[in-house]
Amino acid sequence: MGRGIIVLCLSLFVELAMGQSYLDMRHHSYREMKEYLQLVNNICPEQSRLYSIGKSVQGRDLLVLELGTSPGQDQLLKPNFKYVANMHGNEVVGKELLLWLAHYMCQEYRNGNEEIQLLMNTTRIHFLPSMNPDGYEAALNYPREPKPYTYGRANANGQDLNRNFPDLDATACQIPNGQRTDHLSVLTKRAGDNEERQPETEAVMNWILRHKFVLSANLHGGDLVANYPYDASCNGQEMGHYQKSPDDSTFRYLASSYSTAHARMSKKGQACDAGEKFKNGITNGADWYSVPGGMQDFNYLASNCFEITLELGCDKFPKEETLPQYWQENKNALLNFMSKVHCGIHGLVIDAQTGAPASGAVVVVKGNSHGITVTKNGEYFRLLAPGDYEIGVSLDSNFADDQELVDKNIQETFWDSANSTKCKFFSVTVPECKGPGYAVRKDFKI
Ligand SMILES: [Zn+2]
Repeated sequence: MGRGIIVLCLSLFVELAMGQSYLDMRHHSYREMKEYLQLVNNICPEQSRLYSIGKSVQGRDLLVLELGTSPGQDQLLKPNFKYVANMHGNEVVGKELLLWLAHYMCQEYRNGNEEIQLLMNTTRIHFLPSMNPDGYEAALNYPREPKPYTYGRANANGQDLNRNFPDLDATACQIPNGQRTDHLSVLTKRAGDNEERQPETEAVMNWILRHKFVLSANLHGGDLVANYPYDASCNGQEMGHYQKSPDDSTFRYLASSYSTAHARMSKKGQACDAGEKFKNGITNGADWYSVPGGMQDFNYLASNCFEITLELGCDKFPKEETLPQYWQENKNALLNFMSKVHCGIHGLVIDAQTGAPASGAVVVVKGNSHGITVTKNGEYFRLLAPGDYEIGVSLDSNFADDQELVDKNIQETFWDSANSTKCKFFSVTVPECKGPGYAVRKDFKI
């Protein structure tokens, strides 16, 4: 055995021995979570990056671990995916699952697991394990058991972060049928968004708008279901009003890809409240109960990102010894959902005259009022459930997500997808999607 090999073996041994105390499936305080993330970053320095997107009210960094083979760098036609957990500080299962998942993926990448390698080679994967570390610390340190049901849910200013995003549903509700319902954050900015935003919300909003995320999930606890947009009803009804988004079938496909890969989410009788009857383990958000100002719909209505909300179990802060069970139940679902970032249609959009990227152009699906804007590199990622579609590109860049606010009357910028004459449509069949390599490539010159 050569000296180099001995040194390598020793370093691996030290790594594993050191890692053991952190990488156990248990509750991690903020300090321990930070050490855990640093350790994963150290084990996979070439395939990970640890960064902060801002600070909580009490000054804790909102830490994100990025996994993949090009950390920190956009690569053409490589989509960005994210998982966010612990937005409600007392809902802790998702946080521990993301720590474990990050470690698992890093180790499996090194061990030559081809499925994990393929996913990490083709995707920029971002995990924010704790969006509300102040609430988490409060819940963790509550001195008695059982902890009160909502203790630590809000941030340190007592604000529920999942009610603190701009209420873009209210804006979308006012848009006439068939007119565009995407990138509404531009409208909010034009209208002067004076609502007080919490620092955690502000940091995540900027993060969502800065990166070209395609798919995301927000991990909660308190029930067992995959929840999809819209989250808020237009008629003010608090429960039981199914508020369809233009991408209803795609969202149902995405939510089912989680629930059916989960050990029991899609089975009958799993809801925590006997009165709830979730079909196939999924629900439209507003049909369950209306949430204005939530993060899920902000993603969909402000950016190109499709987000769903996952409720991972009845117990918000379960006993430590049950955490491995949660991992067993969710592991395949977490990986399966992540792979769906590669579904639908993607490609490049180029200016026919100059050959430059047609940044800000809008990719349109006939009969669907939700546009996807082209990135500054000229790419687009259009998630779609399997089926036949007609797809085109419009030059209406007025809603481009590059924060360039066009000083025009808002009504004038609405664009009618049904009567658009700017678009030439092409037929595309989207097949059943099994992950990387399944997106249909369709390029445009305009
Ligand atoms: Zn929650």
